[in-house]
Amino acid sequence: VTEPNAGTDTSRIETKAERVGDGWRISGQKVWMTNAQNADKVLLLTRTQPRDPGRPFDGMTLFFVDLDRNNCDVREIEKLARSAVDSNEVFIDGLPATDDDIVGTPGSGFQHLIEALNPERIVVAFEAIGMGRAALKVGAEYASSRVVFGREIGRNQSVAHPLADALARLDAAELLAQRAASRYDQGLHCGREANSAKYLAASAAFDACDAALQTLGGYGFAKEYLVERWWREVRMFKLAPIAQQMVLNYLSERALGIPKSY
Ligand SMILES: Cc1cc2nc3c(=O)[nH]c(=O)nc-3n(C[C@H](O)[C@H](O)[C@H](O)COP(=O)(O)OP(=O)(O)OC[C@H]3O[C@@H](n4cnc5c(N)ncnc54)[C@H](O)[C@@H]3O)c2cc1C
Repeated sequence: VTEPNAGTDTSRIETKAERVGDGWRISGQKVWMTNAQNADKVLLLTRTQPRDPGRPFDGMTLFFVDLDRNNCDVREIEKLARSAVDSNEVFIDGLPATDDDIVGTPGSGFQHLIEALNPERIVVAFEAIGMGRAALKVGAEYASSRVVFGREIGRNQSVAHPLADALARLDAAELLAQRAASRYDQGLHCGREANSAKYLAASAAFDACDAALQTLGGYGFAKEYLVERWWREVRMFKLAPIAQQMVLNYLSERALGIPKSY
């Protein structure tokens, strides 16, 4: 599903399921389907009723169906990072499904899906924080050991401070991510905390990786030190699973009550 947060135009849900006899036929396309090269099953959000502009989140249904290659053309996307798992665009033409393949209540698929998004944001926040901390460790060690012009480069505050700044912001993001996780575990609403934690973590972690890469100088580009990989990997969290701007849309609309931009 195209990221379904506040600000999302759900007309972009481009997969439709139509009743055919006592079953369903699904057609459409989905970009950025993770692990479709290997998957036997796919969880698909489909539109099953025409879009009502007044209730755009209604009329969608979740299906958990066989990813049958006879009806699905799966094309891998070459990408910047995250090579541990494949990403794909998938073209679906008449994929058969039954009522038993429906997850939850027909027409309420979007509402079911959204329940899973906050925990995903919390997990992503911690992933980013972990990468940021790993990069800071390498950066701090290098700053403390590399000697240029007779002294360790970390003695230059222009080298040390970006690392320290990222540490402070990673610590703050982690506290908020813990608060979001605690609220989720207690069954409390955690959209504000989960979105904010992901937003702060993605930003602080990327800056941590970037500061570490800069600290390593030329070796920042060397695969041996891993920083270049974290720098690439962590960049994704500013875009996915939700773009930073969409988090700000959510916070401005839902937490601050500012009128929507669309
Ligand atoms: C490696 C990777 C793996 C992924 N895996 C999955 C997956 O498994 N399943 C899945 O469903 N999706 C997946 N995605 C998709 C991901 O969730 C989306 O790419 C992401 O949510 C951004 O949506 P978009 O690409 O449609 O960008 P767009 O919505 O086209 O936005 C493009 C840019 O414009 C900005 N923008 C758009 N509208 C506004 C606005 N109103 N205000 C301010 N800025 C705006 C966005 O923030 C973004 O920077 C994956 C993406 C990547 C890169």
